[in-house]
Amino acid sequence: MVHHDVAIVGGGCVGLSTAKHLAEGTDLDVCVLEKEYHLAEHQSGRNSGVLHPGFNYPPDSVKAEFATAGTRRMKEYCAEHDIPCEECGVLVVATTDREEAYLDELAAQAEANGVEYELLGSQAAIRDHEPHAAGQAALYAPEAASVDSQQYVYTLGREIQQAGVELYLGHEVSAIHRSGTGYRIRTSNSDVEADYLVNAAGLHADTLAHQVGVGEDYQVIPFRGEYYELVPEKTDLCQTMIYPTPDPELPFLGVHYTRRTDGKVIVGPNAVLAFGREAYENTDVDPGELYETLSYEGFRKLIASRTMLSVAAAELNKSYRKRAFTKASQRLVPEVRGEDLQKSYAGIRAQLVSADGELVKDPLSIETDDAVHVLNAVSPGLTCSLPYGEHVADRLAAKV
Ligand SMILES: Cc1cc2nc3c(=O)[nH]c(=O)nc-3n(C[C@H](O)[C@H](O)[C@H](O)COP(=O)(O)OP(=O)(O)OC[C@H]3O[C@@H](n4cnc5c(N)ncnc54)[C@H](O)[C@@H]3O)c2cc1C
Repeated sequence: MVHHDVAIVGGGCVGLSTAKHLAEGTDLDVCVLEKEYHLAEHQSGRNSGVLHPGFNYPPDSVKAEFATAGTRRMKEYCAEHDIPCEECGVLVVATTDREEAYLDELAAQAEANGVEYELLGSQAAIRDHEPHAAGQAALYAPEAASVDSQQYVYTLGREIQQAGVELYLGHEVSAIHRSGTGYRIRTSNSDVEADYLVNAAGLHADTLAHQVGVGEDYQVIPFRGEYYELVPEKTDLCQTMIYPTPDPELPFLGVHYTRRTDGKVIVGPNAVLAFGREAYENTDVDPGELYETLSYEGFRKLIASRTMLSVAAAELNKSYRKRAFTKASQRLVPEVRGEDLQKSYAGIRAQLVSADGELVKDPLSIETDDAVHVLNAVSPGLTCSLPYGEHVADRLAAKV
């Protein structure tokens, strides 16, 4: 059986960034076990591809620190490795007085986090940036960028292999056992032994952690985010990125417009309970995983709240009725019509929920003497991936 000092389970942006930082900062013999035969098949390759520069997160929070640093580091990384990345800026639009008041809070957060911003106080000022957007005020953050997340992940994969990391594709970890001083890891291919473990398995990270008695108070609840895209003749309706003012009570941003680096304009995502951890279509059901979600006490407590129930109903409506999705899209760009929107891809967020029914909003990793389990690499996890992977690598290296 092959042996490595460190086994990282999961070849998403977090696992690969951890491998990169371990390879750069230590002499440890590291491997990555990835279940798919291609990288970027799940969250890291199915997202909006936006670098969020940190105005959305409270000062002193881990998210603010990682998002602000992550945006700047990712831009440098993309430039160095020729990965498409466009610093086009984002316009966060307020359509009500309440939202306009919240823009001041976002501006204060941007100030405290050292993020550039400009407040725009009129429809005319908004239209100077985005001729088709409607709103009474907006915050413009020029540092936001659009990145090709799949190219980023492929590049990380190539880079770690060049640095000596063994990348095992098509190795699905089915069981992790303690073995004397380390771990014996059973996969769908060959088994592996390792002294130290990093669990960065995204949508399945909780299941693996539970096998070794870690994180039993938490479970991943999968929330699908579905996108439409503007038909090619209508992509001029959005030049850069148009976002709604976020609701601080809710974990997901509302439907927004993002111009990707390939010129497509994606609209979405919504946030609907997925009936399986990889249920990418709204007709996909994994009965075992659905039962796991519905029988989890944390989930039942979460949806017992009136707000969550009404949000869930509205999101389901947007998933099954295009008219409802179009209506949500028209809030920011009134000119958009149903025929301008065509179905695009979907991604599934691994949202950690605690047994007492709380959505965990900050990144969460749980450590033992010889492992780091990344249980909540929550959005904007792509933006945060370089500093977060470095953090996980440092924590692991400190145990050796
Ligand atoms: C719809 C959507 C939109 C988003 N938009 C943005 C955005 O615009 N900006 C931003 O910064 N963030 C965004 N995010 C969040 C971001 O994509 C994630 O936070 C980030 O990709 C998480 O990376 P990860 O490596 O933890 O997970 P993943 O990319 O899911 O990687 C986990 C890997 O583990 C593998 N794996 C799982 N189980 C096993 C097993 N048993 N054995 C071996 N391998 C296993 C999987 O195949 C997968 O490759 C978005 C997410 C979604 C879903």
